[in-house]
Amino acid sequence: MYDTAFLNGKIRQNNTWISANLYVQNGKIALIDEWVYEAKTTIDCEGKFLLPGLIDEHVHFALDLGFIKSVDDFYHGSKAAAYGGVTTVIDFLDPVDNEKDLVKAYQKRCKEAKDSVVDYTFHATLKAPTCDLEAFVVTMKSLEIDTLKVFTTYSESGRRTSDEAIKTLLELTTRYDFLLVVHVENDDLIRLDEGFKPSDLPLSRPAVAETLEALKLASYVKSTGGKLLMVHLSAGSTLQTLKDDYPGLLNTQFFIESCPQYFTFTEAILKEPKGYLYTCAPPLRSDKERATLLSLSDDVYTIGTDHCAFMQADKQKTRLIDTPLGIGGVEQSFQIMMHHLGESAIEKMTENPAKLNRLPGKGKLLPGYDADVVMMAYAHGKIRKSHGKADYTVYHNHPVDCMIHATMIRGNFVLKDGTFFGGKGRLVKGVHPDA
Ligand SMILES: [Zn+2]
Repeated sequence: MYDTAFLNGKIRQNNTWISANLYVQNGKIALIDEWVYEAKTTIDCEGKFLLPGLIDEHVHFALDLGFIKSVDDFYHGSKAAAYGGVTTVIDFLDPVDNEKDLVKAYQKRCKEAKDSVVDYTFHATLKAPTCDLEAFVVTMKSLEIDTLKVFTTYSESGRRTSDEAIKTLLELTTRYDFLLVVHVENDDLIRLDEGFKPSDLPLSRPAVAETLEALKLASYVKSTGGKLLMVHLSAGSTLQTLKDDYPGLLNTQFFIESCPQYFTFTEAILKEPKGYLYTCAPPLRSDKERATLLSLSDDVYTIGTDHCAFMQADKQKTRLIDTPLGIGGVEQSFQIMMHHLGESAIEKMTENPAKLNRLPGKGKLLPGYDADVVMMAYAHGKIRKSHGKADYTVYHNHPVDCMIHATMIRGNFVLKDGTFFGGKGRLVKGVHPDA
């Protein structure tokens, strides 16, 4: 007898839907076929759709910016995630510049993540490295971390990694089989004038700073044969230029992540009375950039949210340099992206991030995979209540075309028909230091 049977649903496989029944046993998908077998719990999925648990490869829970902490800790952030059908999140280790501190950062972050109700793992983060880069990578791989984040900017807070170090790291990606994850903005083209208001953000961080830096990195990827993920691509023109100049690299070696906010809003909203609530880095772009991004959505490989939520009062500053940059989105991301892209959003939020970030047992509905299952139905509505800790979401009242009815993680319902049951998230790879 199976633990759970999902009967009469449409199941997402190979970019389409199949009509079948899905059976769960011991936290894994045991069987998918057309016959009916006995189970302890049977769910009728008539008119509903089953998809793999969503993966948000880019969240910042309990992020310490020094002067402020992002408001969602792992419990509240992951609860919001579960409401949005997200069953795995990838957060970041604190930035370090040497391998000894990397191990400490890993232990610290694993402890902080213990309250997560969804599964989780981490990108390692390097800042202005002073160490032997190969030794750093070897230590990272020993922790079973396959993704390393660096910044090309934020020199003012000592986080920028030099071009030379990036080239060396790209060479190491093939030898040690990992992915370099990069925040891509040209440091010299960013202006941090003290007189800038939050609405000056597009002036402070122009689209050209992203485009030029992306082209430079693509040339490094080409010359080194390395593998890179450009996170939070914000401007359609950046993607168009990469596509024109490096068509063979795009999403084979140079992967593109974008975020729901860049498909939804434009920089015009920053000029509105509460425009400061929409500040993030890179910033929202012009309507033309947004339209280009939408038209090139097939070339966006993954959707991450860059979820970094703050309270309204924390965002309400007169000077840009005092404003914490970041917005929430982990809960609303799937509904928003389905609205913009239709069903092509599904693979960008399931099997693509699972493959890219190497998450074993995640991202597909197949026998042997983790029973991370989302039950969804098409229905028109608007985004209303949010479940994170922040006192606002930029997506409030945004129209949506689908609803999440249930979220199952490794065979356990975390959310079903609006009831939140909680759960115990697990580290996806590696050994938890407390285990
Ligand atoms: Zn981020």
